[in-house]
Amino acid sequence: MARVPTVNDPPVEPYRIKVVESIALLSPEERERALQRAGYNLFNILSEEVYIDLLTDSGTSAMSDRQWAGMMLGDEAYAGSRNFVHFESTVRELTGYPHIIPTHQGRAAEHLLLAQLAHPGAIVPNNMHFDTTRAHVIRVGAKPLDLAVPEAYDCESPHPFKGDIEVPKLTALLEGPAGPSVPLVMVTLTNNTGGGQPVSLANVREVSSICRRHGKPLYLDICRWAENAFLIRDREAGEAQRSVREIGREIFDLADGALMSAKKDGLVNMGGFIATRDARLAARLKEELILFEGFPTYGGLARRDLEAISIGLREATDERYLEHRIGQVRFLADLLSSNDIPIMHPPGGHGVYLDVHRFLPNLTASQLPGQALSVELYREGGVRSVEVGAIMFGEEEAASGRTLELVRLAIPRRVYTETHLRYVAEVVRRVWDRRTTVRGLRMVEAPENLRHFTARFAPDGG
Ligand SMILES: *Cc1c(COP(=O)(O)O)cnc(C)c1O
Repeated sequence: MARVPTVNDPPVEPYRIKVVESIALLSPEERERALQRAGYNLFNILSEEVYIDLLTDSGTSAMSDRQWAGMMLGDEAYAGSRNFVHFESTVRELTGYPHIIPTHQGRAAEHLLLAQLAHPGAIVPNNMHFDTTRAHVIRVGAKPLDLAVPEAYDCESPHPFKGDIEVPKLTALLEGPAGPSVPLVMVTLTNNTGGGQPVSLANVREVSSICRRHGKPLYLDICRWAENAFLIRDREAGEAQRSVREIGREIFDLADGALMSAKKDGLVNMGGFIATRDARLAARLKEELILFEGFPTYGGLARRDLEAISIGLREATDERYLEHRIGQVRFLADLLSSNDIPIMHPPGGHGVYLDVHRFLPNLTASQLPGQALSVELYREGGVRSVEVGAIMFGEEEAASGRTLELVRLAIPRRVYTETHLRYVAEVVRRVWDRRTTVRGLRMVEAPENLRHFTARFAPDGG
């Protein structure tokens, strides 16, 4: 069983630091000017203007000395590079899927897979669609449907697997009149949009058997499968003695294929893939791959990148690494909880999510409280976070009953130390202490798709 760290028992790094990168905190005036210039959208803030960057854990990992050494062994042949051979054999060994298709990142895998499997009028169920997955489902004219258990929408519920699909709802969908419109079922491990919450092995087993009964292919979004498997080992009855790789392998065996952004549990800065058992689908995907990404032995990546992914995927399943990784998330969550700051419980795999409804109850939905809180964390201490709420998911989602309004503090892998996390907790606490002074925002420029990336805002009433 993994050790559960507490505030007084911080996780100890299973690595030492060989290369360092300077960071600095701008003055309050400089931060205010940066916010104004950025239209109060933290995606428009320059990295150099940020002190602790918790915008995302995607592509922000520190690579190991072994990965950098692997980069030097890049064989940049267009076709048949040895790095592709290493990459393919690693993904096959970890997942058991025979057909491996590299892509430049996760959304490219979503683009190719959903264009093949979904169609106009189709319904695509998932526990919760990630923003780019949702956008790719909509792009092909299909409808994304979130079927997470009700506890997923309750920040205070102690449910250990808030990433689970609500099985009776999935069954009703597949057995009902809309059943024939479902071309595939997806499950996202961990459920990023819902707080990085894990999916239980029991739930994947049930979903798999329903899919098999109805002849529906099951595809997994495995961006954070190693973190999910670690949390299964930690929380699910009877799993404590198994390895993360064994648990992962059982999950993959239950599905027909997977897509992955290697920028998460691949411990690299760029890359992704599709893996499948379906030879005919793989052949069609490869034709499209050549059109959009590149030849099937590089798929939009430099060959040295494939080597780094191959090494990173193995390192991400190292249990000492995972114990520290998940330990950092728990450590930050414990620090915040000890100051009564409302967060999504229990903490998940890759970050701590602030519960905005309880943090800023005085702001109305139209005052964009999630965005206002993330802007305030930057203003207070140069900490960059991201809103996962009304702006990321919009009215269409609100209509579908989504009630979560979160601010995500995503922790990059192997990048920050205990002291950095203590600093972040202190900045959040200072904003918490003066929470009644936090002003709302309004959107002044709203693009139609994936608007959280490019929208601009202004202070409410300003
Ligand atoms: C990051 C992410 C994606 C998309 O991957 P990119 O590499 O950013 O394109 C898809 N699904 C989930 C759950 C993710 O977290």
